[in-house]
Amino acid sequence: MKNRIFLDIDFLQMEILNTLPNPVFMKDTELRYVLANQAFEDLFGVRREDLIGKLDQHIFSERQSVQCNASDLRVLESAEIDEALETVLRADSEPREMIIRKSRLTLPSGQMFLVGIMHDITEVSVTNRRLEESQKLLEQQSAALKRMAYTDPLTGCSNRRVLSLKAPEAFAQKGHVGSLLILDLDHFKRINDTYGHDVGDAILVHLVKVISQIIRHHDELVRLGGEEFAVVLAGAQAKNACQIAERIRQSVESTPMFYGGSSIVMTVSIGVVCWANQGPVDLDTMLIEGDRHLYKAKRNGRNCVVWATTGGDRPA
Ligand code: GH3
Ligand code: MG
Ligand code: MG
Repeated sequence: MKNRIFLDIDFLQMEILNTLPNPVFMKDTELRYVLANQAFEDLFGVRREDLIGKLDQHIFSERQSVQCNASDLRVLESAEIDEALETVLRADSEPREMIIRKSRLTLPSGQMFLVGIMHDITEVSVTNRRLEESQKLLEQQSAALKRMAYTDPLTGCSNRRVLSLKAPEAFAQKGHVGSLLILDLDHFKRINDTYGHDVGDAILVHLVKVISQIIRHHDELVRLGGEEFAVVLAGAQAKNACQIAERIRQSVESTPMFYGGSSIVMTVSIGVVCWANQGPVDLDTMLIEGDRHLYKAKRNGRNCVVWATTGGDRPA
């Protein structure tokens, strides 16, 4: 009678195990299966009768068995709980991401078993991956939007926003030393009138390419608007800034744009202003001064460089 009640409890316990959605298994110290529930049977498509007494290598792939047995032995030896994320192949060959939790069970008799419970997190992983992908996409889109907000759509160089945003910091990093070039295409209206607005646009793109080839990568070329540009030369003193301005002037003059069999020569006038005061750069003052010298260059006959400094060094 006593024996019978024990068998019933055994049966009930197995039934309870079978109602669990999680695959559960048990192995002896030789890593032979002694128990597996219905979910385990369904997952791998192996009948329990065929499983009991077998080793992993009798049922699963060599790679999967070796990996699994290594952690089985660790758990049996150390009694530490092992929880690992593993990809297992379902009976229909679909890979499933599983958290496999293994622990050691010791009976009062001293007999030891390994108990494993598996938790399928494939759906959660897929959702997480989708979330990560959406987040990445959002980040890319916001970076693209940011780029658009700071880029001149025609020429691809920075727009005016960048000047107030980056120039003060760039100057501060160089110990409040720096220069600004204010450039304006000469007689651009004439070019537009002669060749048309589209060619005028192409000239602006050409001009940005020519200037970009001369300035250093950390110098910032900014389109202020229309055919007026600024170059932020952080750390450059007057002599250096005037040399760069002169190189830009010469390069623009000697690099015509070829269009429909004719070459369109263009020139620029440049106002240079160097901050030589103590303390943080006052960008507005620099812009006003630079503009003033640009118009002086226009009055001097265009295609020339006029420089100024708020004090301090002078170009040799
Ligand atoms: P100056 O040497 O005194 O600077 O003479 P300018 O003809 O260059 O100057 P002005 O201010 O008289 O004319 C500037 C012209 O630039 C007029 C305007 O239509 C043209 N412009 C401004 N922005 C653009 C643009 O994005 N594309 C084109 N094609 N033309 C533009
Ligand atoms: Mg002009
Ligand atoms: Mg202008």
